[in-house]
Amino acid sequence: MQGLNRTLPIELFDRPFSDDELRNNAPQREVAVSQNIAGKHIDRVFTFDKVFGPSAQQKDLYDQAVVPIVNEVLEGFNCTIFAYGQTGTGKTYTMEGECRRSKGGPSGGLPAEAAGVIPRAVKQIFDTLEGQQAEYSVKVTFLELYNEEITDLLAPEDISRDKQKKPLPLMEDGKGGVLVRGLEEEIVTSANEIFTLLEREATPEGEELIKCGKLNLVDLAGSEIYHVLGARDGRAREAGEINKSLLTLGRVISALVEHLGHIPYRFRLDSKLTRLLRDSLGGRTKTCIIATVSPAVHCLEETLSTLDYAHRAK
Ligand code: ADP
Ligand code: MG
Repeated sequence: MQGLNRTLPIELFDRPFSDDELRNNAPQREVAVSQNIAGKHIDRVFTFDKVFGPSAQQKDLYDQAVVPIVNEVLEGFNCTIFAYGQTGTGKTYTMEGECRRSKGGPSGGLPAEAAGVIPRAVKQIFDTLEGQQAEYSVKVTFLELYNEEITDLLAPEDISRDKQKKPLPLMEDGKGGVLVRGLEEEIVTSANEIFTLLEREATPEGEELIKCGKLNLVDLAGSEIYHVLGARDGRAREAGEINKSLLTLGRVISALVEHLGHIPYRFRLDSKLTRLLRDSLGGRTKTCIIATVSPAVHCLEETLSTLDYAHRAK
């Protein structure tokens, strides 16, 4: 255990490209973890569709991993991008980037270099829609799912705290999907309108009248919460609920891969997270999990668990 508590930062995974990979311009696909911890040698290699090392920029990840998914959304399909990993490893940085922190937000134009998936996706969506002849409409919703309870994060701030905090019910919409009753939907006509909402912490969904695509952008709870909390008083239920959501999600995603789109019905009903995403998992949908990990030795246990989960969900 002593080794796990050392805070020596190390490069766990920045494997250099082989000559062959360089010749073929192949993206890096492996994360290698090799460490001696408390007399135990850990030597593991995980394979992914893509791996972004410490020097990767927001644009690299967006261009290689997200552009094809947003293209699907613009074609009318429902897609989901998850950020999954230990607290502090960069989930929010990956999804939002730094734009929200600079007061005033991105002023039109290109997203700043540090802008994450959300502002870049908004820009890609509007750039494409504005370049088309067809009419379009884009709706944005933003919610928090915590302890299996749904809270509206776009609800006007002048609403009394009590009312705003009231959990919203999740219902069948009668068209095979679900709807969150009472959830605010903002109709937006430009990227800037979304960026203004983003200042209020928004997650966009793209929806077009004829082709009706939906983009779910999900910043999951810190992966460590359910390991650490265990059965400790009071927070046991919380840990259990988050655990259940993630486990169910993992099973749904594995089922998608293994059974070519057929998700066992009981899995779909298992947690609110998977119920919310029901119309976006299975069929012609694309799901991308961005797993974020720390290079620090003291995070190794959680890093291995994150890599394991993401690798299995592949
Ligand atoms: P999480 O949402 O997973 O808890 P954050 O996104 O809040 O983690 O990241 C934790 C801190 O690390 C933040 O200050 C963030 O700006 C910084 N950070 C995360 N990833 C990067 C990165 N790739 N480059 C620069 N800073 C980063
Ligand atoms: Mg975060």
